[in-house]
Amino acid sequence: QKAEWALLKDAETRTADGKHFELAANIGTPKDVVGVNENGGEAIGLYRTEFLYMDSQDFPTEDEQFDAYKAVLEGMNGKPVVVRTMDIGGDKELPYFDLPKEMNPFLGYRALRISLSAGGDAMFRTQMRALLRASVHGQLRIMFPMVALLTEFRAAKQIFDEEKANLISEGVVVADDIQVGIMIEIPAAAMLADQFAKEVDFFSIGTNDLIQYTMAADRMNEQVAYLYQPYNPSILRLINNVIKAAHAEGKWAGMCGEMAGDQTAVPLLVGMGLDEFSMSATSILQTRSLMKRLDTVKMQELANKALTECGTLEEVAALVEAYTK
Ligand code: PEP
Ligand code: MG
Repeated sequence: QKAEWALLKDAETRTADGKHFELAANIGTPKDVVGVNENGGEAIGLYRTEFLYMDSQDFPTEDEQFDAYKAVLEGMNGKPVVVRTMDIGGDKELPYFDLPKEMNPFLGYRALRISLSAGGDAMFRTQMRALLRASVHGQLRIMFPMVALLTEFRAAKQIFDEEKANLISEGVVVADDIQVGIMIEIPAAAMLADQFAKEVDFFSIGTNDLIQYTMAADRMNEQVAYLYQPYNPSILRLINNVIKAAHAEGKWAGMCGEMAGDQTAVPLLVGMGLDEFSMSATSILQTRSLMKRLDTVKMQELANKALTECGTLEEVAALVEAYTK
């Protein structure tokens, strides 16, 4: 099996009926790019930049960030790289950044909420400038985490536009084709995806958080782990809503939560028409091999049934089994 996967390293990802899906990787540091290329990644679908902050004694400078982003973009040789702006807070703390103790950190002051507040504005603009400067070294895409409101996206996009204009007026060359998108990991945004789709360039569904927030079950709490159900029909309906909303506006929809590399979920996601699957690099070849065996028309039928006829995760899993064996 491993030998079969190795043969797929340089192959395109195609289903049995010849449809292409993009298999991308999640990374945390520039060093991870080696593994992405070794495993035949077609893109980076999630670069978690908070590690730049967490592995440092102080806020990383604009130049330090520029070096990291440039290294990743160059390492991918022109293939797309989705960089997520910092997602601090929740379970991720910074020793040098004094965040208030909260009762519910996962529901609190974190990620884009920090970036858009007075306390995070300077940090966010520094990151934006570093990204914009690095953009000429590859195919950069920028993504905002933890978006709940359309007005949050607009505010973040405005800061992107302002820093871009500032750099240009300073004589710095920046790419003109940077896509700007959002993570869909809050149910409110998943429900309102049709409105977001008019303004963003893409969606990437963050199922790790989307499931936690939809099920009201802390993703770190073993006691409620049984509620963490990627293919519960409620989650599938949210995901399907997001994909259809993106396509209605001619935008693409990806997924960068763990679910994107889950071998039971992949047939369903293929059936729903997800465009990009971003996972740990070590899952890419296995997923490419699985996709080779799937027929998209049959998977559409599978997804439809799961979306309209199933009430439990077990029913969905049994349906997938029946359609893929
Ligand atoms: C997610 O929430 O699905 C995600 C990809 O982001 P993180 O796991 O970093 O919260
Ligand atoms: Mg998340």
